[in-house]
Amino acid sequence: MWYKTLTKNSWEVCKQCGKRFFIDLNEGTGIKYCSKECSKKARKDAQYKATNTWHKRNRKRLSDYQKRRKKMQRIKALKLIGNKCIVCNTTKNILFHEVYGKLHTVTYDYILKNYKDFVSMCKYHHQTLHTFAKNREKYLELENMFAD
Ligand SMILES: [Zn+2]
Ligand SMILES: [Zn+2]
Ligand SMILES: [Zn+2]
Repeated sequence: MWYKTLTKNSWEVCKQCGKRFFIDLNEGTGIKYCSKECSKKARKDAQYKATNTWHKRNRKRLSDYQKRRKKMQRIKALKLIGNKCIVCNTTKNILFHEVYGKLHTVTYDYILKNYKDFVSMCKYHHQTLHTFAKNREKYLELENMFAD
């Protein structure tokens, strides 16, 4: 009878391409995809998503590690070079200034390796120094201030 075949069969929507397809419930339920291609593609997509989240998580873990490492290096540098601004003695916002360096966007690896060439300065005085540094005379004046 025609309605018997109707109840045995079911329309499903393919989870991959959204196409409606007909499944024979005699062959089993739980078919999610209209074709082998779609089920293959879905498996690939799931795999891609999984590796993607893994990479994301891993990247975060790596940056956490780098942050931790930087923190440790900073503590080390503060111990080696000093934790006080050589001008005002504050311990806040300490930066490391390479005394004879020119451009000094340097890494902590570099600072720790050459720590003898660095002095600790607060953000304010460091900025002041670099402003003064453009003016040679004033810079020397400031350098003399640091001498004792
Ligand atoms: Zn499909
Ligand atoms: Zn200062
Ligand atoms: Zn500097």
